[in-house]
Amino acid sequence: MSTPAAVRRLNHDIRRLNSAEKTRDRALDHVQKDRKELKQDRRHIDHVRDAFEDNRKELKGDRKELSKIRASGDKRLDAFEAKEEELRERIEASTDPLTGTTDPFLEAQLRQVEQRHAEVQRSLEQRLNGKRDAIEKTQAGMDRQRGEIKDTRREIKDEKRDLKKDLRVLDRARDRVKDARQDALEHLRPAQYEMGLEATNRARRELGLKPVDEPIRPDRGPGDVSGVSNAGLGGLNSKTAWAAKVARKMGLTVTSTTGGQHAPGSYHYSGRAVDVAGPASAMARFYRFMAKKNPTELFYDPLGGIKNGVQIGAIGGHSSHVHVAF
Ligand SMILES: [Zn+2]
Repeated sequence: MSTPAAVRRLNHDIRRLNSAEKTRDRALDHVQKDRKELKQDRRHIDHVRDAFEDNRKELKGDRKELSKIRASGDKRLDAFEAKEEELRERIEASTDPLTGTTDPFLEAQLRQVEQRHAEVQRSLEQRLNGKRDAIEKTQAGMDRQRGEIKDTRREIKDEKRDLKKDLRVLDRARDRVKDARQDALEHLRPAQYEMGLEATNRARRELGLKPVDEPIRPDRGPGDVSGVSNAGLGGLNSKTAWAAKVARKMGLTVTSTTGGQHAPGSYHYSGRAVDVAGPASAMARFYRFMAKKNPTELFYDPLGGIKNGVQIGAIGGHSSHVHVAF
């Protein structure tokens, strides 16, 4: 048996939907990856900026300290020079004009001061050089960080562009999923009429719909009585039994078939008539529907009466129920 066209169309829609959903999921993955990378790079750039700021503060402190060391060093060196100058003058003054000899005690003191002067100068230069090295190192670090910030900024720009592109792809993929689902939903109803319960529920699951308990069949109007109870309709001819079931479908109750008290010669006794009752609106609907089905008798006083295809008006005694015979 070949697959009905409606089912083939639905299956095609579902395959299209599945493939569109896969594409959409991939696009969503891309977007999430883009967002993650962007977040990581933004966090990284924040870290580098913080480190750069720390280095800037350190550099400022080191420069201040360098000039402090230099100033206090200069003061100390000046003091040594002044002391040496004073000693030299005193040695000069102590020179014996005849022998040319000088005061050995002052000479020794001068040598001591000069030695101490040289030591202080060396240690000062060491300290200055150490500070200069630290400053250079910090500056090199800042240069590296500047470069890294610039590079990361460029990466962020690229990632933003990628994200924008991937978001557009995702939008299109979502639209395609929506279209495929809409088509599938549209084609589901006619296809369901052709499918068994299992296939119906499989298709419904694909479309995110609740499963059904029995196969879905078209409602062919009030005349379609498939599934309507047959109970108590024994002894009626098929057309009359059908009329009784139509009444039940419309919410009416069968009040009399072949039993009960009826006029002599009534069609009830031969299983050709049925009485039905219920809400007036339902009885009116039933009467109007049966009037088109060529009944042998149809009586409902509020709307009139038909006998053998002839309109005979209300016959009386039929205001609380509809009587129909075939
Ligand atoms: Zn009757």
